[in-house]
Amino acid sequence: MKKFDVNLTVEALGFDELTAAERRLVDTASDATYRSYCPYSHFHVGAAILLDNDEIIAGSNQENAAYPSGICAERTAAFYAHSRYPEAAFRAIAIAARGTDTHWTAAPVAPCGACRQVLLEYENLAGAPVSVLLVGDGKVYRLPSVRSTLPLAFTEF
Ligand SMILES: [Zn+2]
Repeated sequence: MKKFDVNLTVEALGFDELTAAERRLVDTASDATYRSYCPYSHFHVGAAILLDNDEIIAGSNQENAAYPSGICAERTAAFYAHSRYPEAAFRAIAIAARGTDTHWTAAPVAPCGACRQVLLEYENLAGAPVSVLLVGDGKVYRLPSVRSTLPLAFTEF
């Protein structure tokens, strides 16, 4: 038997350590949480995607009484971004979340497995790593790529 490690380096940053572009993306994701429709989970999530045409596309989670019919903020943003600008490559994504009490999650929130899979496909289309910014209360985790969030990912062969 052989073993190998899959490593992930996460940079934990304060807001003042972000670039201006990253700060704008984080602010846009945070603003998007206020447009969430989450009467069932009461968990407000916002995502913002920076494209290589400098557009930022935001999305929020949209729930439904038929629960699986809802969709996460990340996929709301990703699907709209690619349908609106199919030629534009993803460059970065920021994700923020808060409860109904308006407090940001203490720990940065990470995308679910389905969103990681979807975002990975757009990263593959981009042909370059898509930076991932996970926002928490007073801190941001910066990951180098979507692929880093999904080790041993399923991709086309
Ligand atoms: Zn998700």
